[in-house]
Amino acid sequence: MILPDCIPGSESGWMCPVYWNNRGYKNPALSGWDDSPCFSCPDTPCCRYLPLHSFFIRCREDWRTAENLLAVPGIRLGLKDNGSFLVYLHRSCRFLAKDRRCRIHGTPEQSYICRDYNPRTCWYKRAFPGTATDLLILLDAPRLARLGPLIGWTGDGMLDRVPDWRILKREALQVPLTDGPSLFPGEGPPGLLVPPGKPSKPEHFDLIRFRLGFPGVFLVVGEQNWASLILPEGQSPEGPAAGNIPDPFGTDVRMERSLLIGLESLTAFQDACSFGETGLVSPHRPE
Ligand code: SF4
Ligand code: SF4
Repeated sequence: MILPDCIPGSESGWMCPVYWNNRGYKNPALSGWDDSPCFSCPDTPCCRYLPLHSFFIRCREDWRTAENLLAVPGIRLGLKDNGSFLVYLHRSCRFLAKDRRCRIHGTPEQSYICRDYNPRTCWYKRAFPGTATDLLILLDAPRLARLGPLIGWTGDGMLDRVPDWRILKREALQVPLTDGPSLFPGEGPPGLLVPPGKPSKPEHFDLIRFRLGFPGVFLVVGEQNWASLILPEGQSPEGPAAGNIPDPFGTDVRMERSLLIGLESLTAFQDACSFGETGLVSPHRPE
């Protein structure tokens, strides 16, 4: 699989995909909740779809990776108008209230990723309604299966032909989205490991904080590499499901020798970390 950087122009892959389309000012410039574009946003996709990674499909093996990803509980893919596939965790942030407001809005607890996001130019609000738009086609396993026969491959399994976006969108909309893996037999993989790995700057902890706000997301601190661990909601990382976690993007973290950090222990762990001149972080295990 050929992996692009997590964000165009970012070699480290450490910039959050939320920034892909908007890098704006803080939304409290708005005079009030009623004036906010978020007030009229019915589904709050920014707080219910956690972007995890992106990749391009260039060969049949990549297509199989997409199928396997969609067998992981809670994972959906978004085919973007530039041809990349975004990997999303479809799950509400723990701070999202029933009235669609953020319970930690503007507090130090909230990540800068959320605080700096500009709802007036919000990409989510344009990309997600109906879940297949001119910007994004959201995919679960049945939808991917519907699109499969439309894709052409060369004799040696390389991507050869992709239909026009209007056709892809029309076909996807024929299949209602499901809430879980429904195409593949068995219970599906127990979770997923995703990059980016070890931070090289203190600011990178902001993406970790943003991610850990979603239930079932943990930071895995290995001796060499770090990663995000995605588990089913309510699943303990110490439980039996933690073994044999798929690692399709090569984080190369060995779960059995790693420290597992949840949101509750992130601040203490972050305080115990330091950054040297090389930019590498020196993690010290909290007592
Ligand atoms: S930031 Fe965008 S997607 Fe999120 S609630 Fe506001 S308008 Fe909706
Ligand atoms: S912390 Fe961020 S993702 Fe969570 S509810 Fe608040 S704005 Fe949404």
